Amino acid sequence: MTENETTHGSNFITTIIEADLKTNKNDGRLATRFPPEPNGYLHIGHAKSICLNFGLATTYNGTCNLRFDDTNPTKEDVEYVDAIMADVRWLGFDWDNRLHYASDYFEQLYDFAVHLIRTGNAYVDDLNADEIRQYRGTLTEAGTNSPWRNRSVEENLNLFQRMRAGEFEDGSRVLRAKIDMGHPNLIMRDPTLYRIRKTSHHRTGDTWCIYPMYDFTHCLSDSIEGITHSLCTLEFENNRALYDWVLDHVDAPCHPQQIEFARLNLSYTVLSKRKLIQLVDEGHVNGWDDPRLPTICGLRRRGYTPEALRNFCDRIGLAKRDSVVDVALLEFSVREDLNKRAPRAMGVLRPLKVVIENYPEGQVDELEAVNNPEDPDAGVRKAPFSSEIYIERDDFMENPPKKFFRLGPGREVRLRYAFFVTCTEVIKDEKTGEVVELRCTYDPATRGGDAPDGRKVKATLHWVSAAHAVDAEVRLYDRLFSKANPDEKVNGKTYMDFINPEALEVLRSCKLEPCLADAGPGYFCQFERMGYFCVDVKDSKPGALVFNRTVTLRDAWAKLKKKS
Ligand code: ATP
Ligand code: MG
Repeated sequence: MTENETTHGSNFITTIIEADLKTNKNDGRLATRFPPEPNGYLHIGHAKSICLNFGLATTYNGTCNLRFDDTNPTKEDVEYVDAIMADVRWLGFDWDNRLHYASDYFEQLYDFAVHLIRTGNAYVDDLNADEIRQYRGTLTEAGTNSPWRNRSVEENLNLFQRMRAGEFEDGSRVLRAKIDMGHPNLIMRDPTLYRIRKTSHHRTGDTWCIYPMYDFTHCLSDSIEGITHSLCTLEFENNRALYDWVLDHVDAPCHPQQIEFARLNLSYTVLSKRKLIQLVDEGHVNGWDDPRLPTICGLRRRGYTPEALRNFCDRIGLAKRDSVVDVALLEFSVREDLNKRAPRAMGVLRPLKVVIENYPEGQVDELEAVNNPEDPDAGVRKAPFSSEIYIERDDFMENPPKKFFRLGPGREVRLRYAFFVTCTEVIKDEKTGEVVELRCTYDPATRGGDAPDGRKVKATLHWVSAAHAVDAEVRLYDRLFSKANPDEKVNGKTYMDFINPEALEVLRSCKLEPCLADAGPGYFCQFERMGYFCVDVKDSKPGALVFNRTVTLRDAWAKLKKKS
């Protein structure tokens, strides 16, 4: 752990904030904002920023605004606006009446731009995008002034006004800040402030055909809203100079401080809207809320809880340099939360029929099962037992190797909350040789799971009574990428080449305990030994249940790594 990283909620940002509060900077106020662009769905990286901004407001009795940074009408949509609001609320945060849109400031921003023109700090440029790029120079070579750089204030005002009026075509002219074409920071080489886009905006309709650029809009929106600390990710470090330049060259209501922190990167995951959009659009996943995606709606559908995501964000802390967080830590966070709260039940995912030969046919024994050993208040339930049950296919081996302690021919095991059973016969499909059924005997003296004579068994299996079982489809998920760092390009291969085709496995003949028959959308529980599951909110119907596995009980990958 370095000095940049956090323990117990203190970090380099809280240090700055506490110092500012102490010296009564900003009149002792703290105001943050979460500024998503409504051009895609939020992902777990955004959750880090949401938890940070809203969390600081809570800790220091400040405020946090939700502001849509909606300045690019070609990529934005109300669908995204609605989804983003739902996701922030679901995560447990509230912006009260502090919902803002950069587009609400378009008129004010226009006035600020006019001010820059009047004071000789902005000009209309007729170069096209390619030419602007050529004139910009490189890291080692200064740029070249545009031939239009020295237009008079009057001409600039006139042209900018006519840009707004729609007289010119897209891309034919831009408004640029007049800073320094030789500036060592390329961003400061006369950055574009406005461009022409004859596109309807999801909120302002056709009122505007010129739209302000991010760097111009963001600092001024922060200032208009009285933000004190403007937290953003490291890739904006170079933009800070422009953030400050704009605020210093207009009559801004206040000058917030931009502070950069390291974005979240997760192993086996991509966290870029562009890449997520591609996965969705090309059909590699089934929509934005596909449980394989790291989107907040995908994680929610998969069964992640807001508590788990917030704990995860706390745990990863805040650093000033980029790093990659192991996705196992995210899985640990949800496991830890569900362990406390999820009721237990038995679910057989790959059923193998077992006939208990000495159990009276037609008899049903109601056995007592504990709902949650971690929660004494959760109580008990009755699990019906009968002469035909299902066990997990993987819990039986005809020729068990040394370390396999579960069921095999002649072996005795415990059925959870029920009886000891011994396998007496293996029935196979004549043609394929596949094991299709087991015959067992049970020991009535072991009711509840213990032998009065003190004899031990080496395994306890989950089971479901065949006559009482509820049928369900269960979807198992694995990592969407088979490579730890899918963003890294190797031998011309990109993240698209590392999509894990086994990230989704659908099991259609699962058998669940009857207590789950009425489980409604979003219901979550642990299937003993198999993991944490939740009822799918979209596809599950009464009588046709669909469960998603949220996470396994143990980190299967860590085990594999140890083995190899
Ligand atoms: P992406 O890089 O995924 O395309 P973005 O930065 O374009 O996302 P915005 O809607 O602009 O998405 O992001 C809103 C806020 O969330 C910004 O302040 C941004 O810095 C922050 N953010 C985005 N991705 C991450 C991340 N991986 N970790 C932490 N914060 C993030
Ligand atoms: Mg962005």
